[in-house]
Amino acid sequence: MSATKQMQITLLGATGSIGTSTLDVVARHPDRYQIYALTANTNVAAMLPLCELWQPRYAVMSDIASADSLRQSLSAKGSQIEVLSGDSGLLQVAEDAKVDCVVAAIVGAAGLLPSLAAAKAGKRILLANKEALVMSGKLFIDTAKENNAILMPVDSEHNAIFQCMPDSLTQHHSSVKMANQQAGAGIERILLTASGGPFRTWSADELQAVTPEQAVDHPNWDMGKKISVDSATLMNKGLELIEAYWLFDMDIANIDVVVHPQSVIHSMVTYSDGSVLAQLGNPDMRTPIAHALAWPERIASGVEPLNIFDVAKLDFEQPDLKRFPCLGLCYEAIKKGGSATTVLNAANEIAVAAFLDEKIKFNDIAVVIEQTMSKANITENVSTLENILEADAAARTISSNYIAAKY
Ligand code: NAD
Ligand code: MG
Repeated sequence: MSATKQMQITLLGATGSIGTSTLDVVARHPDRYQIYALTANTNVAAMLPLCELWQPRYAVMSDIASADSLRQSLSAKGSQIEVLSGDSGLLQVAEDAKVDCVVAAIVGAAGLLPSLAAAKAGKRILLANKEALVMSGKLFIDTAKENNAILMPVDSEHNAIFQCMPDSLTQHHSSVKMANQQAGAGIERILLTASGGPFRTWSADELQAVTPEQAVDHPNWDMGKKISVDSATLMNKGLELIEAYWLFDMDIANIDVVVHPQSVIHSMVTYSDGSVLAQLGNPDMRTPIAHALAWPERIASGVEPLNIFDVAKLDFEQPDLKRFPCLGLCYEAIKKGGSATTVLNAANEIAVAAFLDEKIKFNDIAVVIEQTMSKANITENVSTLENILEADAAARTISSNYIAAKY
């Protein structure tokens, strides 16, 4: 990016954990980046100071009432920022011709439509919103490829894998299978690391008594509530397995989950000559965000350099699918194919919300997902957005009904 034209950024989910980290990195490089649009759900109090500081062209809130409230506060201060609302507002700022880069940092299925719109518009997409990819899989990847979008993984593991992959793969939107065939890339396995979450060593009985407060308090990473619960159940690692499957087009049998409690190695790739490449760093999302923003260049992120002597020790363990059945459900969903991963994601979103509302217990999250997957009609046809939204809505109804009847 030349110094004369700053990259214009739409930041979807500006008030969240990833949104905050993104703005921190962007603030370090005003010569390179400019915020074109910011979006948030309904938190006007959090959005107002961001708008005042960043002066985007557009601000988008989820509903009309929040948008009205933000508009009033901004116009009282004489601001020119245009405030939009709802899916139409999100789509507008995701596909706007003036936008170069869309940071997809909304949590959950709510991020699918604007992320997909950014793919269709051929943007550089910084993908944090893993649920969007888990829901729509092939449709998302095909849309990005067909429209020459640059899909940069922000999830720390996938960003690490990307960094450990050969240029032949990352430069041309290729897949592991193609790179191995055409360029003899020799990629054998992906080792997806997992911290193991805050309850790695807890018994099944202890897990049953976990409270929402305990579950959202992650030992290594500071994140939004939903992903924190997903990390505690290992669902996050399962979603990431599906994410890796789609991003790198790698057989699921060739992706291993490795529990690595220090969260210093963010993932690894093994090669046919016996080499294992790893990406290491302090657990701070500003590193993958800075990498994904600047690639193929490198920029400062504000992250402290890793002190390898402080780390001293790196441990690796097998994941325990008995105590953490959500991970096993993800393997099953990807093997089933079709709408199974869409159904799994929807059921998990409903179950996590019910757990945070104290309607179900920690171990019930997996039960709700398993029940939903067995009751839902898993369809082969997920080639259109309509197919996907239909499967998502049906699964949400099944999960909600199951929770209402059972708990
Ligand atoms: P968060 O809860 O902190 O923030 C979510 C953002 O999305 C907020 O800005 C919120 O206003 C917005 N949002 C929520 N619901 C919305 C809706 N219905 N419509 C429109 N906007 C909505 O979440 P987070 O931790 O920043 O995670 C965001 C995404 O990034 C998730 O998909 C998560 O899995 C992924 N991710 C997060 C981390 C992390 O360290 N936090 C790491 C890797 C991946
Ligand atoms: Mg991750």
